[in-house]
Amino acid sequence: AKRNGPASCCAYTPELRRELAARLATESRLREAVAADRIDVHFQPLVRLTDGSIHGFEALARWKLEDGSSVPPDVFIPIAEEAGLISDLSTHLLRRACRTALTWPSGLILAFNISPLQLVDILLPERILAVLAETGFPAHRLSVEITESGFAADLERALDIIGRLREQGVRIAIDDFGTGYSSLSQLANFPVDKLKIDRQFIANFLTSDKQMKIVRAIVQIGLGLGIATLAEGVETEEEHRRLRALGCQLGQGYLFAAPMPADEVATYLAGLSDP
Ligand code: C2E
Ligand code: CA
Ligand code: CA
Ligand code: CA
Repeated sequence: AKRNGPASCCAYTPELRRELAARLATESRLREAVAADRIDVHFQPLVRLTDGSIHGFEALARWKLEDGSSVPPDVFIPIAEEAGLISDLSTHLLRRACRTALTWPSGLILAFNISPLQLVDILLPERILAVLAETGFPAHRLSVEITESGFAADLERALDIIGRLREQGVRIAIDDFGTGYSSLSQLANFPVDKLKIDRQFIANFLTSDKQMKIVRAIVQIGLGLGIATLAEGVETEEEHRRLRALGCQLGQGYLFAAPMPADEVATYLAGLSDP
C-alpha cells in the first residue's frame, strides 16, 4: 500500500473537516456581511461614578444573521482578523459609529475598539483620520481602545501609530488593563488618557481581598499619573459605591445600561435628564 504523504500525515478526521467547513462558511458569510455593511453597532454608556452623568458611549459590534440569531464579537472579530477583513470591517464600523455619535450632545465621547492586529498597520492613523474627515466627527471626541497585546507584535510601530493619532487629538484608552503583560513599563512610554480595568477584576473585587488590592492599585496608578480609570462590568450598586470610594472616576456595566441600538441612545439620555 502507498504510504501516507505529508499532506495526510495529520489526522484529517471527519470532525476536523466539518469544523473547517463550518469555519470557511462563517468566514464567507462574514465577508458578505462586511461588504454589504450589515454589521451593526450598539452603544454602551460610560458613566461618571461621582454624579451618574454620561461621559460617552463605547461602540460594540453586532452581527445578526438572517435567521435572527447573532454571532458575538468575541467570535467574529477573531475570524475577521484571520480572514484579513478586520481593516475593512473596522472602517465600516467607525463610519457608522461616528455618524451616530454626531447626533449626540457635543460633549460626549465615542469609544471605539481597535484590534491588536491593526496596531501593526502603518496606515491605521490615515484610515481613522479619513473617516473623521469624511463624517466631520471631531478627533478629540474619539477615544481609541487598545489592549496591551497590541504592543506585543511590534512595540515601536504601535507607539508610532498611537503617537500619530494622539497628535491629531484622538484619545487613547488601554482596554482590559491588568490582563496583559508589560503594562506598567508601557505606561511610561506614552501618554494615555484612560485605563479600563478589566471586568474580571470587578466581577469579584468585593469578595476577594486580592482582587480588591489589584483594583485599588490600578486606580492609584491612574491617580498618580493623572490618567482616568474606568471600571468595566459594574453590575451592582455596592460595586459602584466602593469604586467611587476608591477614586475610580468612570464605570460601565449592566448596572447603568447594557449596550443598546443607536436609536435607543436618545431615549436613554432623555430618561436620565428627566427622571
Ligand atoms: P470589550 O472591549 O472589553 O467590551 C466590553 C464587553 O463587556 C462587551 O461585550 C460588553 O457588552 C460587555 N459588558 C459590558 N458591561 C457588562 C456587565 O456589566 N457585565 C458583563 N458580564 N458584561 C458586560 P461584547 O459587546 O460581547 O464585546 C466583546 C469584545 O469584543 C469586546 O470586549 C471587544 O474586545 C470586542 N469587540 C466588540 N466590538 C468590537 C469592534 O468594533 N472592534 C474590535 N476590534 N473589537 C470589538
Ligand atoms: Ca473595549
Ligand atoms: Ca474591555
Ligand atoms: Ca474584553
